[in-house]
Amino acid sequence: MPLYDYGCNDCTKQFELRHSYTDTDIACLYCASINIKKILKFSNIITKGSSSDKGEEASTRVEQEIENKKIELKATKQELTKRANKNDK
Ligand SMILES: [Zn+2]
Repeated sequence: MPLYDYGCNDCTKQFELRHSYTDTDIACLYCASINIKKILKFSNIITKGSSSDKGEEASTRVEQEIENKKIELKATKQELTKRANKNDK
């Protein structure tokens, strides 16, 4: 039988349970609560951690990109104004 990791929503403890896939009658080993969730080792932790990191990283990068574009536009505008003034003379 496969070994599953569970976290209890009531007492917040984590435990391992060996049971068959079809066995749904599972309770917390500590408080006997059935308010428990299956924890997917590895995949759960890795995707959760990296996705939030990437999200923050991406938003920071986007903000930086916007700032760069603003500066670029400002410079372009100044350049165009300068050229326009020169053409007037
Ligand atoms: Zn519990």
